[in-house]
Amino acid sequence: MPSADLYRDLVENMHDGVYFVDRDRRITYWNKGAERITGYAAAEVVGKSCADNILVHVDAIGRQLCHGSCPLVASMADGAPHEAEVYLHHKQGHRLPVWVRTSPLLDDHGGFAGAVEMFTDISPRQELAQQVEELKKLALVDALTGLPNRRHLEAQLHSRLEELRRSGAGFGLLFVDVDHFKQVNDRYGHDTGDQVLKTVANTFSHSVRPFDVVGRWGGEEFAGLFPHTDRQTLRGLAERLRVLVAHSQVGAGSVELGVTVSIGGSVAKPEDSAAALLKRADTLMYASKANGRNRVTID
Ligand code: GH3
Ligand code: MG
Ligand code: MG
Repeated sequence: MPSADLYRDLVENMHDGVYFVDRDRRITYWNKGAERITGYAAAEVVGKSCADNILVHVDAIGRQLCHGSCPLVASMADGAPHEAEVYLHHKQGHRLPVWVRTSPLLDDHGGFAGAVEMFTDISPRQELAQQVEELKKLALVDALTGLPNRRHLEAQLHSRLEELRRSGAGFGLLFVDVDHFKQVNDRYGHDTGDQVLKTVANTFSHSVRPFDVVGRWGGEEFAGLFPHTDRQTLRGLAERLRVLVAHSQVGAGSVELGVTVSIGGSVAKPEDSAAALLKRADTLMYASKANGRNRVTID
């Protein structure tokens, strides 16, 4: 049986607002969620009555509930839970829509000791903030692989080049293209092709250093930015990625598909434009293709 302390901790730290009232509707407990949603600290409200210009719930047409259809009163009257969508008064003055659920609290003799109310902030502002987060994510993350997308890579590339010119912080760029990928699609279907791309992406994201950025450039092409990297280190990193991909497998029905990549890479120079650096890495990647694929070419 968990201890009373554990329950208290759980309630105290719930995301939702929770408060208890006694039979006279004086507030006896006020959790952190309630503080966060309403702006009122526990010390400001415990001992007061809810109608004392604290929450003074109103309904959607502005009717005050304190003196009429208060869900807490309803729960203490019929011993049942009640729910309502109401607008509470935030400490800063504005009204805030909340979904409230009330339940009676019984005393040791089966009478009503009071009631408990739980409330959830349902203001669209919250949903909006979530949507913005989602959009941000969607705009910079490739949906298939979950890796940063080309927009993100381009933005990173520009800021890395600026930093290189400002402070001399060097970095390397790798350009990666899956070998004979069209054949995978043609033989095993587009879905298996997608699986191959996800596998390559997972291998990359699990094997680069925390400050490296590897993303999907488009189609079956990936690119990576590797800070604090000279040519020899870049070659080592590229070789490791190549070998790890060559040792990954994708299930396609009864067969396990192998996959390889060709990589080109170059260390950025202060006079590089983003386009010039990308072009150099891309040309070196094609040199890897021309020399037999499943290889690395670093200049
Ligand atoms: P190479 O070794 O010379 O790179 O040959 P390749 O077949 O990999 O290159 P090619 O550019 O001819 O083919 C790339 C293929 O990738 C063609 C395109 O239909 C496929 N492709 C691009 N994006 C996706 C995707 O998101 N999913 C799948 N399944 N296929 C894709
Ligand atoms: Mg390609
Ligand atoms: Mg290819």
